[in-house]
Amino acid sequence: MPTQKTEKKSTPARRKAKETTFRGIPASPGIAIGRVHFLRADSSEVMPRKIAPYEVEPEIKRLERAIKQTRAAMTESRERAIEMAGETVGRIFDAHLLILEDEEFQKEVRSRILREQFGTEFIVYDTMERTIELMEKQKGELFRERAADVRDVRAQLLRFLQGNEKSAPKGPDEPSVLVAPGLSPTNTLHIDKERIHGIAIDLGGATSHTAILARSLEIPAVVGLGNFSTRAKEGQTIILNGNSGKVLLAPTTASLKEYRAKRKRYQKFQSELAGLCELPSETRDGHAVELHGNIELPHEVESVLSHGGSGVGLFRSEYLFLTRGTSPDEEEQFEAYKKAADALWPRPITIRTFDLGGDKLHPGLHAQAERNPFLGWRAIRVSLSHPDLFRTQLRAILRASVKKNVRIMFPLIASLWEVRKVKQALKNVMKELRREGIPFDEEIPVGIMIEVPSAVIIADVLAPEVDFFSIGTNDLIMYTLAVDRGNEMVSDYYRAHHPAVLRLIRDTVQRGHDAGIPVGICGEIAADPLSTVLLIGLGLDELSVSPGEIPEIKKIIRSISSADCKTVAQKALELSTAADVSRLLEKEMKVRFADLPIWFTSER
Ligand code: PEP
Ligand code: MG
Repeated sequence: MPTQKTEKKSTPARRKAKETTFRGIPASPGIAIGRVHFLRADSSEVMPRKIAPYEVEPEIKRLERAIKQTRAAMTESRERAIEMAGETVGRIFDAHLLILEDEEFQKEVRSRILREQFGTEFIVYDTMERTIELMEKQKGELFRERAADVRDVRAQLLRFLQGNEKSAPKGPDEPSVLVAPGLSPTNTLHIDKERIHGIAIDLGGATSHTAILARSLEIPAVVGLGNFSTRAKEGQTIILNGNSGKVLLAPTTASLKEYRAKRKRYQKFQSELAGLCELPSETRDGHAVELHGNIELPHEVESVLSHGGSGVGLFRSEYLFLTRGTSPDEEEQFEAYKKAADALWPRPITIRTFDLGGDKLHPGLHAQAERNPFLGWRAIRVSLSHPDLFRTQLRAILRASVKKNVRIMFPLIASLWEVRKVKQALKNVMKELRREGIPFDEEIPVGIMIEVPSAVIIADVLAPEVDFFSIGTNDLIMYTLAVDRGNEMVSDYYRAHHPAVLRLIRDTVQRGHDAGIPVGICGEIAADPLSTVLLIGLGLDELSVSPGEIPEIKKIIRSISSADCKTVAQKALELSTAADVSRLLEKEMKVRFADLPIWFTSER
């Protein structure tokens, strides 16, 4: 849960405010120092306005005109987003266009105007409000995101209907940090980077569209700040650390000095990182560690390469599903996998079969709400109970493997029978392709994700069946500590450095190596600079992280020796609490790598 710590009691308005620290979720790296600037609220409630029967027709015409204008504005936003931040971000606006163009929605608004005889603004507002309320009642980040998207579309449509389209919110005159309860992707996209140096918002998680957009636009951001926007005042001085999630309101002179120095050091560090791209990912004593990128969509391969990654360790293929309304067919999937594999060739790409379910619900598949979706019909369980869906995906992956740089990986494996079953399914598809004379890689490496404690416990049984393991700590931590990874209320219980997690990683590596297979890690811990030494010391062969994190992790790998890493890992394994492990790692980093600004991220 976001916490806030008031260091001193609030003071009467005229006396100088005391420094207050807030903690949220780090969403986009970097340090911003400036003045609080509020974004004007976008869609305040619209009151009903009764119209006469003869006004119905003109109102419907007005609706059609506004839809047309909104469509044009959104298309422009989409192009602007692609230009500034790439195709993935552009897709956020595709989702908006889909909402606007939804036939059911447009039909409903028209018939309500006719039936109820209220002005178009109110009918649009109210119809979309019902959708928003429905979505907000559902559990999960995906529905919250969808609700935010509908809100964004509504705000734009209302702006045209009310003739306010030109009144863009007035920007600040000095370096500022934008503060708001929530921020739509459209508003994020139109931020004036000259003046707005950071974003602090009450709602959202690190994977929200706004967070993704902020990262792409390289604007430092902290989200999930609780009631921060009700505590800040326009014009107040603010420091925001997008690396750690810490926000200081009315900072002292000493804090300002400290953070100005930190910002300078961080900027210097970032410019040094740019020079690392071409250099190998190996420790000072020549121990190579594969440093790969995690991607959601094929074109992100470019970002992996431009950041110096040596392959893709996790292609979350389910996003092909989630970014559209229907299942992608074999051809579409084949094109997507081939595009990514060809762009990377000869470097490897690991395609994970659909991990649908949990918080990645697809309306076509997950029509029925589950009581415990993360313990329910998720990932490999969905694939195994939908043989056609699974077969189509396996065919597409195999067809894309001709150049021999594709690996296939199965998520959420908990038992041996599942491995046997997926291997049989793969064998059947291979037979089919051979029969049809379609070429593929006969030796395609087959791996599994280790993200359920049972898989670690029987890792010795699973290892001989596969060609590699990849540890998914995001889920492994959740299932080991019984803490929902997306629930802010228990986020303090979600501890990557918990001794149980460390032992599970150690055991997986040992059992994998005993069977002669490599073991990688693709959960978020791999991108935590504080944990790099620990993970290498535990013997991981591959780290797979978001493309933007590759340079920082590479810098650490290249600055350390494998002997040092082993010593640190050994010490960590002897500790009894997560807090002790985190403290040890912070201390080690400060002592051993004093020149690295690791402490940016360790402000937690
Ligand atoms: C994980 O669980 O660590 C993982 C990488 O998979 P995802 O985050 O997609 O569940
Ligand atoms: Mg997972």
